[in-house]
Amino acid sequence: MFSAERDQAHQAGSQAAGAATGEFDAVVVGAGFSGMYMLHRIRDTLGLSARVFEAGDDVGGTWYWNRYPGARCDSESYFYSFSDRLSEDLLQEWTWSERFAAQPEILTYLGHVADRYDLRKDIQFNTRVIGADYDETTGRWAVRTDDGDQVTARFLISAVGCLSTTNLPDFPGRDGFRGDWYHTGAWPHDGVDFTGKRVAVIGTGATAVQAVPEIAEQATRLYVFQRTANFDIAGGNRPMDAEDGKKIKSYYREIWQTTRETGFGFPYDTPGRTARSVSDQERQRIFVEAWERGGFRLGTTFSDLLSDIEANDTAAQFVRARIREQVKDPDVAELLSPRDHPFFTKRPPLENGYYQTFNRENVTLVDVRKAPIQEITATGIRTGDAEYEVDTIVYATGFDAMTGTLFKLGIRGRQGLDLAEKWAEGPRSYLGIATHGFPNLFMITGPQSPSVMSNMPVSIEQHVDWITDCLRHLRSKGLDTIEPLLAAEDDWVDHHNEVGAATLLPMANSWWVGANVPGKPRHIYPYMGGVGTYRRICDEVAARDYDGFGSGSSGSTSSGEFAGVARAKHAAIAAEVAAGVTKPEHAEIAAKVAGSVAAG
Ligand SMILES: Cc1cc2nc3c(=O)[nH]c(=O)nc-3n(C[C@H](O)[C@H](O)[C@H](O)COP(=O)(O)OP(=O)(O)OC[C@H]3O[C@@H](n4cnc5c(N)ncnc54)[C@H](O)[C@@H]3O)c2cc1C
Repeated sequence: MFSAERDQAHQAGSQAAGAATGEFDAVVVGAGFSGMYMLHRIRDTLGLSARVFEAGDDVGGTWYWNRYPGARCDSESYFYSFSDRLSEDLLQEWTWSERFAAQPEILTYLGHVADRYDLRKDIQFNTRVIGADYDETTGRWAVRTDDGDQVTARFLISAVGCLSTTNLPDFPGRDGFRGDWYHTGAWPHDGVDFTGKRVAVIGTGATAVQAVPEIAEQATRLYVFQRTANFDIAGGNRPMDAEDGKKIKSYYREIWQTTRETGFGFPYDTPGRTARSVSDQERQRIFVEAWERGGFRLGTTFSDLLSDIEANDTAAQFVRARIREQVKDPDVAELLSPRDHPFFTKRPPLENGYYQTFNRENVTLVDVRKAPIQEITATGIRTGDAEYEVDTIVYATGFDAMTGTLFKLGIRGRQGLDLAEKWAEGPRSYLGIATHGFPNLFMITGPQSPSVMSNMPVSIEQHVDWITDCLRHLRSKGLDTIEPLLAAEDDWVDHHNEVGAATLLPMANSWWVGANVPGKPRHIYPYMGGVGTYRRICDEVAARDYDGFGSGSSGSTSSGEFAGVARAKHAAIAAEVAAGVTKPEHAEIAAKVAGSVAAG
């Protein structure tokens, strides 16, 4: 029983967070938002012992690794943080300096949270988990690290993040480049000075859109290698003044409640109207207003933008017109205008000066769709029709998202089943949080949960709180093993696929469908049913005694029922939405927010 293990585990856990050998109630992998909050809940809420392993030398996750120039959040700072679930006091005490905080500020914030909750003492830094095997006889996970240590734990919780394994394209000649090269997701801590350099940026996703304007300021020449033009939305970043901060703090509680109920985890009004239900003129007015306010609002203007191609096209045309307005050279503007995928079917970057950067004399957009990169030479990049001599290459080529990092954990469940093998043709999970054959394994923001299709702190907190309640439930029932039933998993995978297929996402080659990594199974990785809906499903599963999960003692999962409440709940919520049941309070809070910082 894990309650009986507690004293022993506490003893083991009380060693300094240096090399770990011992037994814990839980091992958590990763010390970003997810791992930090999970540690706090396990240790301080449940009173269990935990060891967190983190590959970096401090907390922060994404914000520890991504230190490239211009790195900042695209969720607005005031809701890109821990919510009142962690602490109302912290919300009141912390003041963000910009509407979209830059990386150093977010990292400082996360460091502050670590200090405040004394988290570092249970985190072993500079330590990478390289293997985790479930032992059916003891019902424990044996977790191995790259420094040769092994610990065991009843629960294994992945907090490795969706975007933490860099994707470095395997261009011929890559390693023979004699200049400097960097991946934006593993940026040097002491920064990079581009002054006097000829620089190539490969990639034009969210990261490049942030980095390019900053690099252009320093470099003598900048080549931006674009394979796919994106729908970049106006960011509208600006300093937060004291008045903004005060107003937001006065209704923080409602803001967070709204984020938990809306589709993308943003406190934006998501009106029930469709794009075709309004006149062309009115639609244009709504788009302009959203654009001027900045941020992801444009994506929430109409309910059918992601499900109706004609509705979508109205937004696509609107963005292309904004590109033409900003970029002086019509050929460059056209090259920057996406024509091969619908709006918002690839993660839209937020831009603060990106388009205008192409009006600079020292910046050239290189079309590698027309003439692909053939080779990295010792001195630059050779495409199908030219050679570019550069001193520095910046790979802004994203991540092996959602599954890449999970697979690197080397997780083996019952009968040695390897997670990567089980998921060879795409993820199979129940609720995106657990998977059959892997008892007591939880995946925070795992594939097939809303994860990257949301404002992530909201989804992270929801998963951590759900896991916390689940562990509490097991303890109260005298159980120590939980695992999804195969029938429940199959049902969720079908449901996940059906919901995803009803959207326009399959029409794009995006990392959301795994298209950026050669050989990766094509699958809609995030759950598309919406944050609010998903939360209600998870709550219902828990309320029905963890419907679809089997549980037991000493490693076996002897009992469990599956009534299929997840899909039934989804159907009921979908019907409510179709019937136009909207929440007036969401519109109200959105209006309040619009009246202050988000007015742009
Ligand atoms: C540049 C950038 C901007 C972003 N902006 C936003 C935004 O505006 N809004 C939003 O909602 N989301 C954003 N995201 C997504 C972001 O990843 C999440 O918001 C959030 O930070 C994820 O936190 P996490 O703790 O789940 O994962 P991470 O922050 O990725 O942390 C995971 C940690 O796990 C560690 N780890 C991984 N594997 C191992 C291992 N084997 N052993 C030990 N440690 C391991 C990693 O070192 C890392 O520190 C952004 C992502 C990037 C890359």
